[in-house]
Amino acid sequence: MHYTTLPERGDSLLTLTEFARFIGILQTSINQRQRHGDLKMVTIKVAINGFGTIGKRVADAIDAQEDMKVSGVTKTGPSFGCELAIKKGFPLYCTFDDEDRIEQFSKQGYPCSGGISDLLAISDIVVDCSPGKSGAENLEKYQSAGIKYIFQGGEKHELTGLSYTSSANHMENINAKGTRVVSCNTTGLSRTLVPLFEHCGSLKVECTMIRRAADPGDSGKGPINAIKPVLKVPSHHGPDVMTVKPEIEINSLAVAVPTTLMHVHSIVADLPEGHGLTTESIIQMWANTPRVIIMNGAEDRIPTTAEVMEMARDIGRKWGDLHEIFIWEDGVKLVGDRLYYFQAIHQESDVIPENIDCIRALMGVEEDWRKSVAKTDNSISRYYSLLS
Ligand code: NAD
Repeated sequence: MHYTTLPERGDSLLTLTEFARFIGILQTSINQRQRHGDLKMVTIKVAINGFGTIGKRVADAIDAQEDMKVSGVTKTGPSFGCELAIKKGFPLYCTFDDEDRIEQFSKQGYPCSGGISDLLAISDIVVDCSPGKSGAENLEKYQSAGIKYIFQGGEKHELTGLSYTSSANHMENINAKGTRVVSCNTTGLSRTLVPLFEHCGSLKVECTMIRRAADPGDSGKGPINAIKPVLKVPSHHGPDVMTVKPEIEINSLAVAVPTTLMHVHSIVADLPEGHGLTTESIIQMWANTPRVIIMNGAEDRIPTTAEVMEMARDIGRKWGDLHEIFIWEDGVKLVGDRLYYFQAIHQESDVIPENIDCIRALMGVEEDWRKSVAKTDNSISRYYSLLS
């Protein structure tokens, strides 16, 4: 490693021209050393491929951070979502490289900066927010562009061979080429089970995912008047926790119900003998866990997901998002060594801050997950003027 030092001119001050030249040399030196990997990048340039439910939220969360910026977002074609990208000042790109598809944007009055390859060429990392199962095709594009990549929970663990949640395995993801932020349900399970596991050293879990039928912005999904069991047993949600914390033994069932607001998990966890915990100390543990909110359904008059999402709207994040996992205090009970509890998941947003921490892990800029979580959450709070 070599260092660029200020040129010496005895005791006299540098002229402005000399100073400007020195700054130029310094900048070139920084650029060269960044390219050779000697220096950490100052601002991480992040591409968002797929500007839908998750993509637009990840873009906002990136925009809130000081150490990263949105290099551009993609849309498959002109639609109302382009308006948001332009309003936010995010450069708009086409999901594909075909000239005729790119031209469609300007025909509808949306300035388009090019195709996906142009966006990948100016970015350090891409967050793939395409609909689930488009991963394999997109992965080829990222690999040929030589760029780091993050997929979402709609893709299988096998696509990347590595998965991520902030509290479970941040270190394992440091400097990785690519990974997958697990689904909203798996993120929720991981948030509350990992601290329990860290305390107990082992954990056996059975849980049922009571899933929202569709996101509020979806018109094509259901059921609208039925309860639909997921007839693949166990469901993928529980076992997916083991992609980030293999030591937790967990299985799950799932049913879809006619609501759009949140998922609810009904969880039974068997703690090992001698765990030393009580119902109260478990509640306290979660109260001290980042991105977990615990309230009393009866006393706080917050008995259902409807009131939970009303409380989320009061918090004031955009779209009424709730990044935290919600636990009903009066729904937690330890009976012998068996723990029962319910938690609620805002499916559209609990994975958003995890994506930000994940970017830092892959870029190798923050090894301490707690520091990254604090940085991410404080920046988002400042961005939406939520800090008192
Ligand atoms: P979405 O349908 O709301 O948005 C997907 C966006 O990607 C759309 O703008 C679509 O036009 C665009 N797109 C379509 N084909 C594409 C392609 N080949 N390449 C790039 N972009 C393409 O979907 P979403 O709900 O934001 O889900 C995105 C990912 O996040 C999925 O893997 C999903 O499973 C996961 N996820 C969704 C939720 C949720 O509740 N919505 C929660 C957690 C994780």
